[in-house]
Amino acid sequence: METSNPPLRRTKIIATIGPASDSEATLRRMMLAGMDCARINMSHGTIEDALTLYHRIRKLSAEVGRPIGTLVDLPGPKVRAGSFGPHAVHLEEGRQIRLVPGEGPSSDTLIHVNYDDLLRDLEAGDRLSFGDGAIDCKIEGVDGDGIRATVTHGGRLSGKPGVHIPSDRLRISTPTREDLRILDAFVEVGVDMVAVSFVRSAHDVRRVGTEPHPRGPLVIAKIETRAAVENLEGIIEAAGAVMIARGDLGNECSIEELPHLQKHIIRQCIAHGRPAITATQMLESMVYAATPTRAEASDVANAVFDGSSAVMLSGETAIGEDPVNVVGAMARIASRADHNFDYAGWSEDLLNLRMDEPSALDRRLTDALTMAAGRVSNDLGCAAIMCITRSGFTARAMARFRPEAKILAFSPDERTINQLTLSWGAIPLPLSEFAPNEVMVNEAIGVAKARGHLRPGDVVTVIAGTDARASATDVLRVVHVS
Ligand code: PEP
Repeated sequence: METSNPPLRRTKIIATIGPASDSEATLRRMMLAGMDCARINMSHGTIEDALTLYHRIRKLSAEVGRPIGTLVDLPGPKVRAGSFGPHAVHLEEGRQIRLVPGEGPSSDTLIHVNYDDLLRDLEAGDRLSFGDGAIDCKIEGVDGDGIRATVTHGGRLSGKPGVHIPSDRLRISTPTREDLRILDAFVEVGVDMVAVSFVRSAHDVRRVGTEPHPRGPLVIAKIETRAAVENLEGIIEAAGAVMIARGDLGNECSIEELPHLQKHIIRQCIAHGRPAITATQMLESMVYAATPTRAEASDVANAVFDGSSAVMLSGETAIGEDPVNVVGAMARIASRADHNFDYAGWSEDLLNLRMDEPSALDRRLTDALTMAAGRVSNDLGCAAIMCITRSGFTARAMARFRPEAKILAFSPDERTINQLTLSWGAIPLPLSEFAPNEVMVNEAIGVAKARGHLRPGDVVTVIAGTDARASATDVLRVVHVS
């Protein structure tokens, strides 16, 4: 059954919008089924079409009466093969193929690759894969205007599959010139979040160069290269959130390493108070099927138990048979997992994660107050923890502790409200303006009552950051709702 206010789900859902889901009717139903944030993947289509889609999402979000975040995903130096045409082509193991730089068509013997430096950057012994690992090949050597290679794992290819070149061989840096062009167009219209592909260092994240959020978009660093795993801490510090982009990361590392990297990256994000998104192939079989495999249901639940703030759908909603059904399935699996989450064990563990390193006063202040707010709300059985926040910092800092009480996140900044659609547990609610704390708390209680989140007689914990210049939570109060 569709509901406009899915109950009790704390983990957020990002859905990628594509030809299967870009109509008004489908988008509206996906919002009602539980989509919190819509991802526009710029690996496909034109900027003009993407902007039209963006405005459609904004309009429908206002109609549905629920903030829906907008996320534009920049393709980065994504390398693709030339088209294999309308029918899939089979390349069996042992086949000799030739790789040539350029945009021309591909066949079972010659594959064009849209990377000018192909001959310069690859060496005999390097391994390439096509189509998220569908086919692997080994480079034998450069020969004239092309490269000789042998298929080491056969399979079928269709359309214009992605080509994975080991990131330490790629000369192009991210964001690319094309990324910055896309970014400009979306910053102009006020997009909420931007995901940067193939980052290798904190410097790549800083090169995005937009104003710090919420004035600019929240910058999401996609972790999908070995270098990003090695430079994780700096990247997390530089970014507003992180995506575990398991598709490309699974090409860069061995597949058995992937679940452990997922846990490690999420823990580091939590330690730094950054939302972590687990992405790719979560409900992959639902591109065609009406129900997920048992393994996929467990994958989503385990991503919740690992501490993901959000889980993401890609092809399932972009090109799948029934995007609304997929969002509904993910919402049910995530809320069931949220229900069984080990809230008490989590906050104990978090303390260990945070206490092993010295930190600045602002950070210690935020840690102490958010931890205390979680404790107070548990001990008093508070109906909610109300976070009054400018940039979303206080709500994100609170979410790290995974409190059982619901997190009502209030802000007068519309962009902050939309950016909080990514944060675990936060129910984003608008305030009219910045005002003295007492005034904002009174208005917030009124808003929460009007929307059915609070009732007279409830006891709530309130936390806020009052110093606009500091990133710190410095107010903790307990309020009786009259
Ligand atoms: C991924 O690689 O898992 C990912 C999310 O990025 P993209 O969809 O751009 O390949």
